[in-house]
Amino acid sequence: MAYNKVDQYDEKIMPELMHHYRETLSLLGEDPNREGLVKTPERMAKAMQYLTQGYEMDARAILASAKFKESVSEMILVKDIELYSMCEHHLLPFFGKAHIAYIPNGYITGLSKLARVVDVYARRLQVQERLTTQILDAIKETLQPLGVAVVIEASHLCMMMRGVQKQNSVTTTSAFWGEFERNETRSEFMKLISSRLH
Ligand SMILES: [Zn+2]
Repeated sequence: MAYNKVDQYDEKIMPELMHHYRETLSLLGEDPNREGLVKTPERMAKAMQYLTQGYEMDARAILASAKFKESVSEMILVKDIELYSMCEHHLLPFFGKAHIAYIPNGYITGLSKLARVVDVYARRLQVQERLTTQILDAIKETLQPLGVAVVIEASHLCMMMRGVQKQNSVTTTSAFWGEFERNETRSEFMKLISSRLH
């Protein structure tokens, strides 16, 4: 099943999900029957299904659906792709930006498809490290380019709102393959993504 829109969800699992969210609210000391909370279990059940819809999506199929023969051999870079995901340890959001580059080897893909691949893996319970390598692997396997680079910069609410409260910390993860394992190519990429003149 593929649901893309905010208001699409699996009707079959709604009653049980709502039941558990209602229980959770009670256990946290709330009254799930008070006015403001009556519809909260339903909203949560829908929101969580939306935020985990990536499980139903196929990144490789998305990339392959817009795969074109092209003899470009220069680096293709899409930077500052908005990213919203949820940490699997606390079910709290982490959000930031992804920067993706690849060097084609006969094939390119639509630029917007790269952003969609980010969503496919971000809309799951995640850790930032795995999100980074999943994006890289999907591009590598589908386009078989000469190289792929993925850098993600994100802020984690589980760090910002609780415990250590490092409000301004940004976590950076990166994955490099092929040509990007060479120092010059990688530093060219890093230079391009760190320039803020856009
Ligand atoms: Zn966390």
